[in-house]
Amino acid sequence: MNQRTGGPAGAPTIEQIMSPGPGRRPPRHWMDLAPAERVDAVRAMGLPAFRARQISTHWFTRLEDDPAGWTDLPADARERIAGILLPPLLEPVQELAADHGTTVKTAWRLYDGCLVESVLMRYLHRTTVCISSEAGCGIGCPFCATGQGGLQRNLSTAEIVGQVVHGARLLARGSAPGGPGRVTNVVFMGMGEPLANFSAVLAAVRELTRPEPDGLGISARGLTVSTVGMVPRMRQLTGAGVPVTLAVSLHAPDDELRDELVPLNRHFDIDAVLDAAWDHARTSGRRVSIEYVLIKDVNDQAWRADLLARRLAERGDWNWAHVNLIPLNPTPGSRWTASRREDEEAFVRHLARHGIPVTVRDTRGREIDGACGQLAARVGADGGDLARRAVGGAPAGA
Ligand code: SF4
Repeated sequence: MNQRTGGPAGAPTIEQIMSPGPGRRPPRHWMDLAPAERVDAVRAMGLPAFRARQISTHWFTRLEDDPAGWTDLPADARERIAGILLPPLLEPVQELAADHGTTVKTAWRLYDGCLVESVLMRYLHRTTVCISSEAGCGIGCPFCATGQGGLQRNLSTAEIVGQVVHGARLLARGSAPGGPGRVTNVVFMGMGEPLANFSAVLAAVRELTRPEPDGLGISARGLTVSTVGMVPRMRQLTGAGVPVTLAVSLHAPDDELRDELVPLNRHFDIDAVLDAAWDHARTSGRRVSIEYVLIKDVNDQAWRADLLARRLAERGDWNWAHVNLIPLNPTPGSRWTASRREDEEAFVRHLARHGIPVTVRDTRGREIDGACGQLAARVGADGGDLARRAVGGAPAGA
């Protein structure tokens, strides 16, 4: 493995990147516990073991968060159970809608004041929730809004899963635009580097995919975990045997440029990252998504498309990797802009000529800073109470 020893002065060290951040841990929540631990928790409250299944059924299956509705539990125990086992963790402080109401971005205030964001996107045949795994991010990619504020702390499993439960609840109640529905896809592509918060993210994956009532019962094939290339953690994820899709944010096919765009490359170079991605594809049978933000005159030259294609093709020719091109989304203060249309088209053509599957991602959520690389959890002065705003479409239905 081509693990490098470090980077130039000023680059984050691998210890800094892997650190969970300085914040305190949030209160323990039902969603932090494995099923056996839930039984222990209700017993510790003096309740019989079967109450655990009832609580999980209300939380994950019926998506009922009001203890008054838990009518099969003793009335005098409901509030106590909610207070001890299901403390509030995520307070919605702002909701913005775009794309005629089919994209809704929610800003959450956590128990310690940290802000994170999630985005609910409805399509014809699926509904995707894009979730955050960290408050801020320690990687510091210069084109990304999240990276500019640094890492505040890792999220707990419950804070991660809670973003999906909220979306599932909105859909189940029919209060999300488009009427009743279910969450079919979850992408760990919001704020943070998911694999820097590995154990919480893996526990969240298990809880999202665990059958009801102990989890949300979402197919692992509907889950995508992204990374900028934390190679040891990519291999750990592969070894964990959960058939999620891996999305690798590559953004450059040559180490010289990637060292600048993705500072983690100074620790794990492109060969190491692509070798780990290839192993994940081979082991899981899931095609890896190679994410590539197209930046005008920086990484969008045709020769870079050819180089990217060669580096993918030399590892396997069964379409193990799919390239997802992302027009750069504008972020405040950034010196970079999206590629010209003709350069984007040429990039696509050159990849396709080598037989590499390629698509250009739509710009869902761009007006509300909900698109890739734009999540930065800036809540305006009206953020003290839940603020709802619609941009370029119907009002938020939540
Ligand atoms: S692109 Fe991803 S890894 Fe890089 S700074 Fe942004 S959130 Fe962090």
